[in-house]
Amino acid sequence: MHSYDAKTQNLADSVLRYAQERLAMDPPPLDHPQTFEALRAAAPSTVTEEGIGGEEALDLFARVLSPACLSVDHPGYLAFIPTAPTEAASLFDLVVSASSIYGGSWMEGAGAVYAENEVLAWLAREVGLPETAGGVFVQGGTLGNLSALVTARYRAQVRRERAGLPRPDRWKVIISAESHSSLRSAARIMDIDVIPADAGEDGKLDGDEVSRALAEAGDGVFALVATAGTTNFGIVDDLAGIAQVAKDNDLWFHIDGAYGLAGILSPEARYRYAGAEHADSFIVDPHKWLYAPFDACALVYRNPQIAKAAHTQHAEYLDALETDTEWNPSDYAIHLSRRTRGLPLWFSLATYGVGAYRKAIGGCIALAREIAEDIRQREGFTLVRDPELSVVVFQRDGWALPDYEAWCARLLDNGTAFLVPSSHQGKPVMRFAIVNPRTTLTQLRAILDSMDRNAQNPVAP
Ligand SMILES: *Cc1c(COP(=O)(O)O)cnc(C)c1O
Repeated sequence: MHSYDAKTQNLADSVLRYAQERLAMDPPPLDHPQTFEALRAAAPSTVTEEGIGGEEALDLFARVLSPACLSVDHPGYLAFIPTAPTEAASLFDLVVSASSIYGGSWMEGAGAVYAENEVLAWLAREVGLPETAGGVFVQGGTLGNLSALVTARYRAQVRRERAGLPRPDRWKVIISAESHSSLRSAARIMDIDVIPADAGEDGKLDGDEVSRALAEAGDGVFALVATAGTTNFGIVDDLAGIAQVAKDNDLWFHIDGAYGLAGILSPEARYRYAGAEHADSFIVDPHKWLYAPFDACALVYRNPQIAKAAHTQHAEYLDALETDTEWNPSDYAIHLSRRTRGLPLWFSLATYGVGAYRKAIGGCIALAREIAEDIRQREGFTLVRDPELSVVVFQRDGWALPDYEAWCARLLDNGTAFLVPSSHQGKPVMRFAIVNPRTTLTQLRAILDSMDRNAQNPVAP
């Protein structure tokens, strides 16, 4: 089990060949889920006293398990927020796995942490934060948002204590009604109240709307959260306006950019993010639109010292790691042991350069604009909103939810595309979430063509 013998060498050949073949697929099959019963029948007992052997397990994975997982990097995967890791990023994930690096402390993982921090510093520069900014890669945006809010509340608590003020009855955070579910989840975990700010008809939260929510919220608000790229529509809130309210009221300003903050890399879209430079913290998920494999969220603080004070775990057995000069990633979020999950992005950036990212992201924005224009011109279709980033939301006139669902099921069945209906103002809508540079206009048009009521066999794969 722990000797690299001839048998291991054979298994290594098989595993690496499998990985190589999967990476070379262009496109990979979309695949589709299976029922528990079907999987139980095809893969009955795999965890046994004797084991079934690596070759057999790999074969089972290739034949049964992997085809029961959607290929999120398929160019027709347009639901939720897809992912499309670069070849270099996926390759380097294999290296990270083979390297047994503990990413929680500088003492143990200095070289890897150094490289991860290069990426975080670059992101901070793009957003416009000072050089002293810093943070950590966490598992996902949900954990990033929670860790940032915990830091924000900690700062508010300390300030109250120092000022000799009592704790408020309830701590509160102001978020847009359009913001991501993970923020409400964070509030539940923290046992704080969410004060929803109405983002209005346009779905874009601005300073006035936040001010109104703040005026009604009463005592205990410690943070304002803006979204840079809402999940449903890809709308970037009025960051400058919200930042001003935060400044005027001495509140923490957090930007949830899990999906959309990547758009700041595109020179044409950059203006939408004016005001991002005032953030006290932000997140962006490399596993969404920064072309890294699952799972990674970059969490960056303007003043990481506050995060460190809020998050560092203290224990006798950890004391040896505590120094004032070394950067311990575990100190900046809710975690301790960690994979250096920022390294695939680091390797990919080093391989292709930032310019390639700007181009790829800009390409998705351009494609979204083109297909939106197509939808606007199409008879029987309604474009719900002009896309700001790379999410396009539309309706097929006269269709109800069951029509959309049946159509989506057909597309998934024939391996063409993965779409799921969403809703807007109580009505079902369809959305294209485009992050994959392999997705083409022709393909999107063919998908729209297949929404013809009479189309029995939508688009060939
Ligand atoms: C996806 C998303 C999240 C959650 O990120 P995970 O990595 O899935 O945990 C949070 N906020 C926004 C805006 C998102 O799009």
